Amino acid sequence: MKNYFDHAATSFIEQDVIDFLAKQLTNNNYNPAARYTSGIEAASSIAKSTQTIASFLGAKPEEVIITSGATESINTALKGIVFSPNPKHKRILTSAGEHQATNETLNFIERQLDYTIDYCSLNEKGEVDLEELESLLRQNQYDLFTLIYVNNVIGSVNPIAQIIKLRNQYQPDLLIHLDAVQALGKISFNFKKIGIELASFSLHKLGGPKGVGILLKNETTRIEPLIHGGGQQNNLRSGTENPALVATIAYLFEHLQKTFEYNNETVSNLKLFLLEQLKQEEINHQVISPEDAVPHIVSIAFPELRAETLLNILAKEGVQVSIGSACSSKKSERNQVLQQLNLPQGLDQYILRISLDKSNSQSEICDLVRIIKTALDKYAI
Ligand code: PLP
Repeated sequence: MKNYFDHAATSFIEQDVIDFLAKQLTNNNYNPAARYTSGIEAASSIAKSTQTIASFLGAKPEEVIITSGATESINTALKGIVFSPNPKHKRILTSAGEHQATNETLNFIERQLDYTIDYCSLNEKGEVDLEELESLLRQNQYDLFTLIYVNNVIGSVNPIAQIIKLRNQYQPDLLIHLDAVQALGKISFNFKKIGIELASFSLHKLGGPKGVGILLKNETTRIEPLIHGGGQQNNLRSGTENPALVATIAYLFEHLQKTFEYNNETVSNLKLFLLEQLKQEEINHQVISPEDAVPHIVSIAFPELRAETLLNILAKEGVQVSIGSACSSKKSERNQVLQQLNLPQGLDQYILRISLDKSNSQSEICDLVRIIKTALDKYAI
């Protein structure tokens, strides 16, 4: 996909993955619940693939739940805890920088189940404010802390080790769920080592198909299932399992394991190149993403031209970027993450999110910068 700079919204499926999936759909398509040999083979294929998936994520196979995407994973984690016998306090902690999948689920829980939801502010880098977090943990008792790991708008990485330390100090029993959608494949992730209870992922951000996700649930944590039915996946997510799809996730993870460092180095270099080009062309801009953000997400303000206008000009030239987060761009309300960053009044309306992938090239970046420069020369206020 040429001139595509919206990889945080979705990534494209490489040909080898399509071929692998097609072959699997042809040869590995029996119902894993069936009692005849082909069904038993499908079940054992799922078990083998789940082992690979679990090992890539630093989890146990029984901790892996395949879902229809991160939205379902997040809903299952949050509602699953709330409806389980765990909650004692009817209070959930989150941050002011979450994706709508979390925000809307929490709104539902607050509205329908009379929970109190506390939103920890972000600092100017877009990370949770640790002082405020400490004070919230000192003052209140929570059933769950749900937090985005890598912010999907500006790419900041929440300081999870420090957060776990605070949890252990103030509320060692507090369950933590991480929305790790933008983290996987970008920063190293190990479920057990991080020490959290739940984590959500979406495969289409990693070169997989849409409509596939993962929820990790620590084996000692109890959740109520969201989807009831035939009792598949340890009764936690009913519905006929798809051995071909599970094998494809394993295939993707095996590939990712081998390419992780190369991918990230390539993307870091592309980000540097982009920033150099903007400087070299003397384009008036302000990088909004913090320096230590994941390199894949670079939010940049061009204060002389509204982001929406710039996006449309780029789109006409076949260059795809996003304003704020693609997931929220249909809504006209202002992006709540950008509101937290203490930016000059109104600057959030001038911010483009450029999200990179190893498949982008320097020449595509030159095109992007050239079009921005021409647009600014012509329309800048
Ligand atoms: N969480 C984050 C941080 C995301 O970026 C997204 C998708 O953009 C989601 C959750 C939801 O993922 P999906 O739409 O694949 O369910």
